[in-house]
Amino acid sequence: MIYIFGSGLAGLSAAISLHKSGYKVTVISKKIDGGSSYWAKGGIAAAVGNEDSPELHLSDTLKVGDGLCDVKSVDYVTREIRYVISTVEKWGFRFDEGLRLEGGHSKRRILHKTDETGREITSFLLNLAKKEGINLVEDKLLALKVKDCEVVGFVTEKGGSFDAEKVVLATGGYGYLFKFTSNPSTNVGDGIAIAFRTGALVSDMEFVQFHPTVTTFDGKAYLLTETLRGEGVILLNEKGERFTFNYHSKGELAPRDVLSRAIYDQYKKGYIVYIDLSPIEDFDGKFPVLSKYIKRYGKKLQVFPGAHYTIGGIRINVRGETNIKGLYAIGEVSDSGLHGANRLASNSLAEDLVYGVNLPMYIDNWEGLSVDDAKETVEVKLSGGNSLSLDEIGEYNWNYLGIVRNGEGLSKLVKVYESADLNDNATLVSLLSAKGALLRTESRGTHYREDYPNKSWEDGKRIYFVVSRN
Ligand SMILES: Cc1cc2nc3c(=O)[nH]c(=O)nc-3n(C[C@H](O)[C@H](O)[C@H](O)COP(=O)(O)OP(=O)(O)OC[C@H]3O[C@@H](n4cnc5c(N)ncnc54)[C@H](O)[C@@H]3O)c2cc1C
Repeated sequence: MIYIFGSGLAGLSAAISLHKSGYKVTVISKKIDGGSSYWAKGGIAAAVGNEDSPELHLSDTLKVGDGLCDVKSVDYVTREIRYVISTVEKWGFRFDEGLRLEGGHSKRRILHKTDETGREITSFLLNLAKKEGINLVEDKLLALKVKDCEVVGFVTEKGGSFDAEKVVLATGGYGYLFKFTSNPSTNVGDGIAIAFRTGALVSDMEFVQFHPTVTTFDGKAYLLTETLRGEGVILLNEKGERFTFNYHSKGELAPRDVLSRAIYDQYKKGYIVYIDLSPIEDFDGKFPVLSKYIKRYGKKLQVFPGAHYTIGGIRINVRGETNIKGLYAIGEVSDSGLHGANRLASNSLAEDLVYGVNLPMYIDNWEGLSVDDAKETVEVKLSGGNSLSLDEIGEYNWNYLGIVRNGEGLSKLVKVYESADLNDNATLVSLLSAKGALLRTESRGTHYREDYPNKSWEDGKRIYFVVSRN
């Protein structure tokens, strides 16, 4: 039996693909229809257009990744996604006609389904999994059992202790650990913390992508996609000033990180920021789901930047293997090196699908992650101090590990977490992220240090973490 934790796009695509290849699988998820995948809006990047190629997709990804992508992983995903898309279509999923263009992509290559691509495709796979009779269990992973660097089982909240030789973690990222976020509450870094404690290598934890335009509907975060900005919307502060051109010559079309910092700066100056959606023509036709909210909330909405995508995680190779035998990690919980220091829009759902759908090719012949590259690892000791609430962690991370960071704030934060209870997943993952951000004394990709505003480390230099055994 192969146990898959997480029922987002990564977990479900792996489950269906393994099941169709004749393997017995059980999917265990703390919320069966939960995870970022159901909230994803824009789409999936794939070089399927006539004038496009995997080479162009690769080159765009490397550019945005800012010197830290693992070229092997980028090459793998940009090539494979084209086949994987046709596999998902063979399973019965249909994308809408036409490809969309998103920031950072040199060609139209975003496959989509209405303005709720993530919900559409993940719900489709969830229904397919049910139809195929795949065992879906609502339960929470608490711990992995590992002996001599090999998985031997796991423990869940309701089910108790199980023996297992093959475990796939697809438990998503940790964006919810920031006060302002576009993420659902399932995303608190469980898988990363649980694997780390057993000796899994974790990397790139300092890189957290913030999205500039998040709003709230019915008390829940709602992402206003990049596509809206492409359609000519404008951002205003409460004085009615269109401030974006003070920060970047492209105004509202500036890169995500620049715009996030600009909006953050407006709030720091005491101004609320609004998005004005009225310039968009045929709103109902183009954004049918959003238009339902607009009818209630109007076309001028308050926006704020929020933690959106966590790049770091459990280090894997292109086969989805970690350094613990029998332990696989796929999707946002993992760090395959695809995104480098910054994620190209719509590449994460592509990564979910490639690593998920292709898993059967590797599941019977373990190679394992080579740890040769990770010569310089930072050891982290697990302590058991005072416990912190999620609200406290969210506040700390937003203030000191947020859009603009500095050494003083990060040192403070690391001390707070080092003296806290590291048996708690959210605290442990926050410590790894804060420590990475403190150690990386430069600005690169999503990581912006006001005390080190330039890129100064050699390209490819990565921070790896491993648990201390002393
Ligand atoms: C609002 C929003 C919009 C986005 N738009 C796009 C987009 O247009 N294109 C794109 O490429 N990316 C987008 N992203 C990013 C993308 O959605 C995610 O990176 C991707 O969906 C992650 O998929 P996943 O399967 O790895 O994890 P998730 O979909 O987050 O699923 C994680 C699963 O793990 C389960 N889980 C967590 N902890 C445990 C535990 N301890 N035990 C058991 N189960 C557990 C959860 O219940 C959940 O089912 C967006 C993200 C957000 C938040």
